Amino acid sequence: MTKSTFLIHHPYLAPKDFEAPQMGVFKASTVIFPNTAAMRSRDWMNKSAYTYGLHGTPTTFTLEERLATLEGGTHCLLTPSGLAAIAHVDFALLNTGDEVLIPDNAYAPNKSLAEGELARFGITHQLYDAMNPADLAARITPRTRLVWLEAAGSVTMEFPDLVALVRICREQGVYCALDNTWGAGLAFNAFDLTPGQGDAPLGVDITIHALTKYPSGGGDVLMGSIITRDAALDEQLKLSHMRLGTGVGGNDAEAVLRALPSLDLRYRAQDQAARALAQWCAEQAAFVQVLHPALESAPGHAHWRALCVNEDQPQGLAAGIFSVVMHPNYSQKQIDAFCDALRLFKLGYSWGGPMSLVVPYQLQHSRQRSTQHLRGSRVVRFCIGLEAVADLQADVAQALALLGAP
Ligand SMILES: *Cc1c(COP(=O)(O)O)cnc(C)c1O
Repeated sequence: MTKSTFLIHHPYLAPKDFEAPQMGVFKASTVIFPNTAAMRSRDWMNKSAYTYGLHGTPTTFTLEERLATLEGGTHCLLTPSGLAAIAHVDFALLNTGDEVLIPDNAYAPNKSLAEGELARFGITHQLYDAMNPADLAARITPRTRLVWLEAAGSVTMEFPDLVALVRICREQGVYCALDNTWGAGLAFNAFDLTPGQGDAPLGVDITIHALTKYPSGGGDVLMGSIITRDAALDEQLKLSHMRLGTGVGGNDAEAVLRALPSLDLRYRAQDQAARALAQWCAEQAAFVQVLHPALESAPGHAHWRALCVNEDQPQGLAAGIFSVVMHPNYSQKQIDAFCDALRLFKLGYSWGGPMSLVVPYQLQHSRQRSTQHLRGSRVVRFCIGLEAVADLQADVAQALALLGAP
């Protein structure tokens, strides 16, 4: 054997019983089978064996199991981003001629996907008012196959009556999928929205998460998950997953696994800091409305209370993200200058990482349904990182001083 062949086929194998707190990084495209019989019989679908990197490694199977457990689900699939998880659910469940219903306050690319690829494939969509369950009920037709849900809504943070929305989907026999990035599997149980009430749990069919946000926690990984409790639905999703070929890399899966043990601590710390800052913002004349579901004045506060406050969490739980509606006397130029003047809050998309972020939004570009509950259309969203809240407050205060009174 030549040296190069020997380098590739060297017989040494690392000993089996290595245990450590974290799962190792297993990376593979090729998985080696001991014989052709194994090659023919191995089944990756039930995670009993490995066949090819795209279909799972010890690292990705471990991450999937932990995420499913966190959510109260039984099956999990990983995708290369949160948006890929949304797209995957659409592609796995929708056929030409079907219709999908999306909340008007959904994560905007969910709507863009419906306007683009779904429309091209002959799949129609309607936007519904998530704060009005009757509006959802009225839009469901025999062609409706899937309803997207999101709690709280994107940017404007309205918390919907999820129980009522899911009941409507159940009664009408349509799938409902929740973008649960905000709740992160911690704020409420998506698969059991009415614990202790009735025998069969009332829950969504599917959740997706942008693991990019809280679960990764570092602002340095893109990944998504799709979780179900339904084996048949999981099989359908998995077969599409195989055909579409959207796998994740071992290093990225390990980065998320490494961050998971501190997820709960980070979520709570960012929640407390965000609430403290949101309350302070509510006293500032420049902001005419603070949009955070835990504030009593916020749209959907009662629905947030009903779902996210209980004996175990008497203060409730919420993600560390909120928006302010700017006083209408300010021009967009002034608001942009306010955002530019912030020093600790960096201009950037995403959230759930260590660094606080800010984005100005003009709602007229992203909302089709009524926004009458909002006292203006110029909104600034703050995503709270892990900095000391006193420093963040001082940062907003200095930028407000430069902005001047409305
Ligand atoms: C960020 C985000 C997504 C998309 O996640 P990416 O990993 O950035 O593609 C989807 N839904 C919500 C609510 C998000 O905040």
